[in-house]
Amino acid sequence: MSELSWKRYKCMKCGKTFDQEEMSILPGVHCPYCGYKIIMKVRPPIVKRVKASSTALETPEES
Ligand SMILES: [Zn+2]
Repeated sequence: MSELSWKRYKCMKCGKTFDQEEMSILPGVHCPYCGYKIIMKVRPPIVKRVKASSTALETPEES
């Protein structure tokens, strides 16, 4: 059994998510889609039932 640590990243510019493998296409830490350098780690989705709050969390655009 191989349980790989699930790592995903999100670009703060274009908002795309990608994993480390995709990111390794480019040297260093860059968004593979737009090349932006500021990315954030995204936690794996936790399967958990949340009562009645379905607020969509949108990443605020920052420039
Ligand atoms: Zn990007």
